[in-house]
Amino acid sequence: MRKPLIAANWKMYKTPAESIAFIDDFLPLVASQQKTEIVLCPAMVCLGATIAATKGTEVRIGAQTMDWHDNGAYTGETSPIMLNAIGATHVLIGHSERRQYFNETDETVNLKLKSALAHKLVPIVCVGEHKAERESGHTNDVLQQQIAVGLKGIDPASAAPLVIAYEPVWAIGTGLTATPQIAEDAHKFIRAQIAEVLSPAIAAGTRILYGGSVKPDNAPSLCCLENIDGALVGGASLDPTSFAQIVANSSI
Ligand code: PEP
Repeated sequence: MRKPLIAANWKMYKTPAESIAFIDDFLPLVASQQKTEIVLCPAMVCLGATIAATKGTEVRIGAQTMDWHDNGAYTGETSPIMLNAIGATHVLIGHSERRQYFNETDETVNLKLKSALAHKLVPIVCVGEHKAERESGHTNDVLQQQIAVGLKGIDPASAAPLVIAYEPVWAIGTGLTATPQIAEDAHKFIRAQIAEVLSPAIAAGTRILYGGSVKPDNAPSLCCLENIDGALVGGASLDPTSFAQIVANSSI
């Protein structure tokens, strides 16, 4: 009942022309597949070009972040109203690089999540522990806190679009991946936390993606366990063939 979702996080890579070239190569590779929802999250300046290039296809375009205000004197920021106006449908919230380099916290994640839901954007909320936290046995404490604060005060009636991405920070861009068992255990725990904070029904319907060095060869073992509903892919999403292989391999 949870449709698999594979999302690409292009981070600060690709110009508009490079984004369009990717899409020209990528679309024919996924044209015949219907099992999996595909979302590309390019840089803000590439949203318009990628939305135009994917018009009429099943591929959706999301932002990598957004501000939670509707508008105002917030130089450099992009509002949910602006994302809606150009046709973006999804937004990453609280990616670990945003937390690390741009001071995002569970509290700002919560504000952004409320704003995204209010504006009918599909939020992909990123959570995950650092290496030291895992090694000291605190993974579940970290995840519990991120979910409790990040989802605090969300009306369960509005939460159906919510997507969570479990991204252990030690696995992002490092070539290290969680074992399928580590990922499945974390996803199961996150689902239980969502049930506590929102409701068991919302938890059962929420897609939880795995992220952290997903590649075509490890996608089958990481994307298809009981509580894993797809992937958020960084490095391997920059190449159209590799990303299309991940899409194909994750629904085997
Ligand atoms: C990411 O940036 O969300 C990510 C998972 O990156 P990578 O796939 O490169 O580890």
